Amino acid sequence: MEKHILSKSTFLRGLQCAKSLYLYKNFIQLRDKQSAETTAIFNRGNNVGILAQKLFPGGVDATPAKRSDNILAVEKTQQLIESGAEVIYEAAFQHNGVLAILDILVKKNNEWYAYEVKSSTKISKTYLLDAALQYWVITNYGLPLADISLIIINNQYTRDGNLELDKFFAVKTVKQEALQQQEMIEEKVYQSKLVIANPEQPKVAIGEHCFIPYHCDFMGVCWKNVPVNSVFEITGIPKSEQFALYNAGYKTISEIPFKNNLGANANAHVQAVQTDEEKIDKTAISTFLSKINYPLFFMDFETFMPAIPIYNKTKPYQHIPFQFSLHYKKDKESELQHFYFLAEQGLDPRKAFIENLLKHTETEGSILVYDALMERNILNGLKKDFPAHTPEIDLRLNRIIDLMIPFQNKSYYHPAMKNSFSIKNLLHALVPDLSYSDLMISSGSIAMTAYEHLQKETDLLKIIEVREHLHEYCKLDTLSMVKIFEKLEEVVKEK
Ligand code: SF4
Repeated sequence: MEKHILSKSTFLRGLQCAKSLYLYKNFIQLRDKQSAETTAIFNRGNNVGILAQKLFPGGVDATPAKRSDNILAVEKTQQLIESGAEVIYEAAFQHNGVLAILDILVKKNNEWYAYEVKSSTKISKTYLLDAALQYWVITNYGLPLADISLIIINNQYTRDGNLELDKFFAVKTVKQEALQQQEMIEEKVYQSKLVIANPEQPKVAIGEHCFIPYHCDFMGVCWKNVPVNSVFEITGIPKSEQFALYNAGYKTISEIPFKNNLGANANAHVQAVQTDEEKIDKTAISTFLSKINYPLFFMDFETFMPAIPIYNKTKPYQHIPFQFSLHYKKDKESELQHFYFLAEQGLDPRKAFIENLLKHTETEGSILVYDALMERNILNGLKKDFPAHTPEIDLRLNRIIDLMIPFQNKSYYHPAMKNSFSIKNLLHALVPDLSYSDLMISSGSIAMTAYEHLQKETDLLKIIEVREHLHEYCKLDTLSMVKIFEKLEEVVKEK
């Protein structure tokens, strides 16, 4: 058997874009460097595949000692089938140069059933294509399948005591969908092989396909001539509209004619970039500030979202709060103080989290949060977990004021915000001296992954180091809010 030409992932890459497949096979060194954010998402602890094997216990793993030896994996799978194995994990098959490694293969009543595990709660179009390719490879290899199913996570499941696998997982047959795609798969495999064999790079212009279904990792190659302040920086309009402008010859925002109507938010950004001016509505900002009362609390939560609910009365992917930062200012003249909480790893953090938060926010005064939806949801969730604390939590909820409002309302707009109101964009535009760039943990996703990994970390020095980075990150979030609040106060005072 010859080494495979296409795998599931390269096949799907070719479906998204022939040029991406060509570059991947011939110039992989040109791939974009993965961002820390993306790496964090990929590294999220997620043993869903291993857990799903327990639905079919007693299986044999076909993975060879040298994991990358796929030919050996196919041979081992064949040997297992011939020797009468009835449950095979990581079963490998190859047909016509295409390799497919299936999560679980099961023999029942002398018929074979294929299962592919996804750590998602929904079946996407890509998962259906993935299953259709598996079906094509396995059945053409010579193993008829009575059915092929996706095993996904049931997002309605709430853990109550021991994890109940039959309720946590949902098994959905996708055989009909796979059968409908077989001709297309055959044709696309043929075309993909031509792309790979062709010495010439396919000519593909940039387009919406660069983002669907995945953000392509060759944008550094294809997008290198897209200028700064391009029309792709106009957020709040569909990609199709951005490309319509670009393909009509308007490469930068400055080139867009004034008569173009892109909707209120996008127009505001276009106008700000074209005039290079901040827009400040002092009356609206003053009205917003007049609702804020000292003492002030600047509050931010960090959460993590285990796919497998590890604590009782939690659902898959539920946000579990593990950390908060609070900057506190008693009155206008007083010194800024900082309080924080970071849960001990390995324990359910919710009880200690809410008790500490209530203790540190006892007094009157406004609680400022940036983009308050998540914090409100967490507090409402904690009311259900700890009903005795409901009255106190309600008092905190009533004191929350969302610091994002004046920016979202465009009472204060700066061209560098690029129509995005993330705290990082705001900081970059309004307080450029303060930045997340020097931090080891520089986003909520990275914090989430770091805390998740701490659950199993045993190296004490590593634990201390990660906890220190988590402190720094969450502290900067609330310090940024303080600076943004001060900026609002400053601009209303200016003549
Ligand atoms: S950036 Fe776009 S055009 Fe270039 S390879 Fe990726 S998907 Fe294709």
